[in-house]
Amino acid sequence: WTHAPPTLRDVFLRARTHGQKTFVVYGAERASFEGFHRAAIAVAHALAEAGIVKGDRVAIALRNLPEWPVCYYGALIAGAIATPLNAWWTGPELAYALAHSGARALVADGDRFFRIHPHRDTLPALESVFLTRAAPEPGTRALGDLIGPPGTWADLPDRAMPDVPLGPEDDATLFYTSGTTGRPKGALGTHRAAATTVMAYPYSAARSALRRGAAPPRPDPAAPQRAALLVIPLFHVTGCHGTMGGALYGGHRLVMMHRWDPAAALDLIEAEGCTGAGGVPTIAWQLAEAARAAGRALPSLETVTYGGAPAAGDLVRALREAFPHAAPATGWGMTETSATFTHHQAEDYIAHPDSCGPPLPVCETRIRDPLGRDLPPGAVGELCVRGPNIVRGYWDDPQATAEVFSDGWLRTGDLARVDGEGFVTVVDRIKDMLIRGGENIHCIEVENVLYAHPDVIDAVVLPVPHPTLGEEPGAVVALAEGARATPDEIRAFAAARLAAFKVPVRVVVWDGLLPRNPAGKILRAPLRSVFSGDGETPSR
Ligand code: ATP
Ligand code: MG
Repeated sequence: WTHAPPTLRDVFLRARTHGQKTFVVYGAERASFEGFHRAAIAVAHALAEAGIVKGDRVAIALRNLPEWPVCYYGALIAGAIATPLNAWWTGPELAYALAHSGARALVADGDRFFRIHPHRDTLPALESVFLTRAAPEPGTRALGDLIGPPGTWADLPDRAMPDVPLGPEDDATLFYTSGTTGRPKGALGTHRAAATTVMAYPYSAARSALRRGAAPPRPDPAAPQRAALLVIPLFHVTGCHGTMGGALYGGHRLVMMHRWDPAAALDLIEAEGCTGAGGVPTIAWQLAEAARAAGRALPSLETVTYGGAPAAGDLVRALREAFPHAAPATGWGMTETSATFTHHQAEDYIAHPDSCGPPLPVCETRIRDPLGRDLPPGAVGELCVRGPNIVRGYWDDPQATAEVFSDGWLRTGDLARVDGEGFVTVVDRIKDMLIRGGENIHCIEVENVLYAHPDVIDAVVLPVPHPTLGEEPGAVVALAEGARATPDEIRAFAAARLAAFKVPVRVVVWDGLLPRNPAGKILRAPLRSVFSGDGETPSR
């Protein structure tokens, strides 16, 4: 035992100890931890033979597939900076990130490869392309020739890892932010940051139990293997460090889905006996709704976890109704915090459903006013965070890095309050907050009230321009199938629960679910024209 901070290589070595247990399930394909380990080492050697050296960027443009963790860990133990690309990006977006990161190698599946291919001339740094799930293409190497299908990975030669020295402060990951407020930024994280997130999560569960006077959960070696349904894409830190990292570290089965479909998810959870599921709040709502409609309580589920976007407190009620035996859990985090920074679960969460929990045990928060002064408990200000899981900065963007990574604290751009016990409640993004004649209105507070209306299944609060007040709140909502609530009824519902200045002056009913990006965040830009007066209102 050493007291050195962890690296992702430690996580990788730990995964090997789970041996022949199943690590990943994808349709009829299965691979053991042992197989995963051997395949990742094979990829690492192939990258080294292709000339990849420490610090080079190796991009991964794959949908959620068993090859994803293999290529990610293969790149890491070769000493490279693993650079996951958003699988939903178009050709130009993928090419932008490949050029921006200066990736020297790329692993792509057929779909992504053909999106990137027309842009190859603009990517002089990209020397090696490994292709999977596609017919051979000139100028690429078939990943299948190196590792074969997942079911055969355990038969690969048992080779040593490449001899590359790796330390906790070495660069490990380059994840792109969701691009909600502008062009995605490349968050450059160290081995220490990523490995801390993977390892700190169980401590958070232990602390939550201790707070209640209960014994921290202890893994029971005789219990059946735990299994997590992976819904979040692995190119987001929550999917990669949270769900996948948790499975590698804890020896859980990772059940991948081809694409999100609530009915298929219910079947998979039952067939695989999944103990955990989740994603972004929208996914949790859809899962609860599908289970309720089908009358299936999914008895294997122990936790339903979600985060990444505001979750109305009402979601806790919906989940308790659908899955009385499963604990809801949530958290707040950013790409820059290597996934979950706060974690909130079970009784604590049920008692404080509007909060996203206390910071992980190794992290600290601070709430500051616009002049950078600390605010007392309960006051709303900018959430600033510090801890070993925070990334180093933004790749090739010293200006953006200097703006938010100052004096050892990360300025999150989120507005929040922290109570005396350390529970964090996020109230808005600074950029989204409305100011009506000098009064601040936090969109999330108003949205949560709208979500409490039984007919409302989706809600966003946006500014309505006003000549003297500057702006007033307006709301765009989506209604449940067959629901009939009128805009006036919804306004009256809000007026009974909110101070008058926060009540939306206009409510527009949107046809279908509100537009969201793949990270589950509402796309405000296309909705702003509803109230700004320009353009048609594409609503009922
Ligand atoms: P970009 O930085 O490119 O504009 P993004 O901020 O959406 O995109 P991410 O890093 O994926 O990219 O998301 C982090 C943000 O998501 C947080 O700053 C916060 O605004 C929001 N968020 C995450 N978890 C929660 C939560 N539990 N409640 C409310 N908001 C959350
Ligand atoms: Mg952000």
